Amino acid sequence: PKHSIYKLAICHQVIVDIRFLFDVSEVETCRSEERKTLPIYPYRDELLQAVNEYQVLVIVGETGSGKTTQIPQYLHEAGYTKQGKIGCTQPRRVAAMSVAARVSQEMGVKLGHEVGYSIRFEDCTSEKTILKYMTDGMLLREILSEPNLESYSVLMVDEAHERTLSTDILFGLLKDLIKFRSDLKLLISSATLDAEKFSDYFGSAPIFKIPGRRYPVEIHYTKAPEADYIDAAIVTVLQIHVTQSPGDILVFLTGQEEIETADEILKHRTRGLGSKIAELIICPIYANLPTELQAKIFEPTPEGARKVVLATNIAETSLTIDGIKYVIDPGFSKVKSYNPRTGMESLLVHPISKASAMQRAGRSGRTGPGKCFRLYTLHNYHKDMDDNTVPEIQRTNLANVVLILKSLGIDDLVNFDFIDPPPEEALLKALELLFALSALNKLGELTKVGRRMAEFPLDPMLSKMIVASDKYKCSDEIITIAAMLSVGNSIFYRPKDKQVHADNARMNFHLGNVGDHIALLRVYNSWRECNYSTQWCYENYIQVRSMKRARDIRDQLEGLLERVEIEVTSNLNDLDAIKKAITSGFFPHSAKLQKNGSYWTVKHPQRVHIHPSSGLAQVLPRWVVYHELVLTTKEYMRQVTELKPEWLVEIAPHYYQLKDVEDPISKKMPRGEGRAKE
Ligand code: ADP
Ligand code: MG
Repeated sequence: PKHSIYKLAICHQVIVDIRFLFDVSEVETCRSEERKTLPIYPYRDELLQAVNEYQVLVIVGETGSGKTTQIPQYLHEAGYTKQGKIGCTQPRRVAAMSVAARVSQEMGVKLGHEVGYSIRFEDCTSEKTILKYMTDGMLLREILSEPNLESYSVLMVDEAHERTLSTDILFGLLKDLIKFRSDLKLLISSATLDAEKFSDYFGSAPIFKIPGRRYPVEIHYTKAPEADYIDAAIVTVLQIHVTQSPGDILVFLTGQEEIETADEILKHRTRGLGSKIAELIICPIYANLPTELQAKIFEPTPEGARKVVLATNIAETSLTIDGIKYVIDPGFSKVKSYNPRTGMESLLVHPISKASAMQRAGRSGRTGPGKCFRLYTLHNYHKDMDDNTVPEIQRTNLANVVLILKSLGIDDLVNFDFIDPPPEEALLKALELLFALSALNKLGELTKVGRRMAEFPLDPMLSKMIVASDKYKCSDEIITIAAMLSVGNSIFYRPKDKQVHADNARMNFHLGNVGDHIALLRVYNSWRECNYSTQWCYENYIQVRSMKRARDIRDQLEGLLERVEIEVTSNLNDLDAIKKAITSGFFPHSAKLQKNGSYWTVKHPQRVHIHPSSGLAQVLPRWVVYHELVLTTKEYMRQVTELKPEWLVEIAPHYYQLKDVEDPISKKMPRGEGRAKE
């Protein structure tokens, strides 16, 4: 080994936070099979009685008490499924899948039969399904096709404290629905104590508290701020591993990339230590983790070994992993932020709230006394962290939900019964965008285009791109591109030791500087031509799993095309037609090259750059349209395609005028081939 971990040790100042000294009841290990040992069990009958008595019930109970897995089963046992399904929403897809898997095991049925889940692009339910776990976004979409949700007898909006955009919108819709469906039971469940707000909102609904069991948690802070929290987290894991008594470790990181990095470094360092230390089992968990690997975090740790779970926020309240005794909290999470002025959205790594920090720490004291290592100072905690996380509705682009609400015939959005209203500016911006995309007319009414767009479970710009492909006779190519974009940034595989090979393979798809969208299309089409061959993926440094997912999504989009009566037509030889269809959806995301190699967005000028991973990063076309912005060291455009400025005026005359696309640069610079002709 290059260095001994003891030398890397960070000095932790020990401060015991007295707020964590909760009552300690008898030591009890509640291993998962034993439903009866869960904290909720003694309250089963009381709970059923309360559900029977009241139409709406707010349920509060600490994470791990059994709310998500047990309540739907209790209701089923009590006969509620005779009148309809029980639906339970989760803000996160992994939680919906994992909990459904667990409940199906507990009930001894096959997943997808009596117990199933439904997440975007993946429906694992059947005619038989009576307990259905789903993302809150899916229930929202279900209301589009089943406005009264007749097939449900009970709805449980779980993890309500997360206050996701979809959950907040569901609140408003369900509050209205229960007036018409007196037979429908509504449960709002939350892991935190701010339940009064939900109760008030639902007309003083009673609050059912499930007393939790918590053990004291020792909170440790760092003496000085950590410059590199990933490294600090890794060092802390190793320190705990060699100096602390048995018990698993949970580390909170902000996303897949960080988790993969930490995973690699940890493996490398422990390998260096060889048999000098006990076995360390590393389990990552994040939203896009392949299903087969998700179950690994729940496997009991073998005697003598220690498990370290590298998780995103998902482990804060959505998933409970038994056996965690140590929590490492760097104090960050990724949050969406939205600037309603410019309409720009980005994912930022941001300090968590004090409430989140408490939840994270609490994860270590569930089955015995625990320790939480905060990789920030006590001063940071008091000064830099907000008390609570701002509800998503107040910091996100609302175009998608506005389109859904409009499709449901809810026209007066300003007076919609929001539990917390969004900023008016954001609402106006959403209306403006939908109008620009021709989804709404001047009166704010849904158009035929808008109705078609609403059929697709995609962001409005993507749905518009698909609907517009009809005009350009390239729906076949466009749904492929939409599917590839929906998979995220995991198509290309770039192993550390073969980066040059991987980059060469990737550039093959970019020949002719066609742009990233067409490159994605080429990847898919080449794979399809090779009969979806796995070998082909290996040879071209393409992730098989992502491709399979893209195929799956593409199949579903093809089905939806039929529903909106758009024919599947291919126009592969006319790249301009494909680019025009892309521009029809993404014209608000256009940018123009500046002399220094950066770009200005056209509509609300802001400096942006082409992401280094783009095939056009070295080409720097004069005009581009991009899929999304990501903020890392700079504001980067990811997935970029060249466009001709006159298209903007041709496609979106109500959005761009000639003066927006006049191109002073072009007068000074010689024009390259394939560049815009004015
Ligand atoms: P709550 O919703 O109140 O946070 P849950 O019902 O999710 O509680 O969890 C109850 C218990 O079930 C916990 O001990 C948790 O570890 C266990 N559990 C939940 N999901 C799984 C799973 N997929 N595999 C194994 N155990 C699980
Ligand atoms: Mg839960």
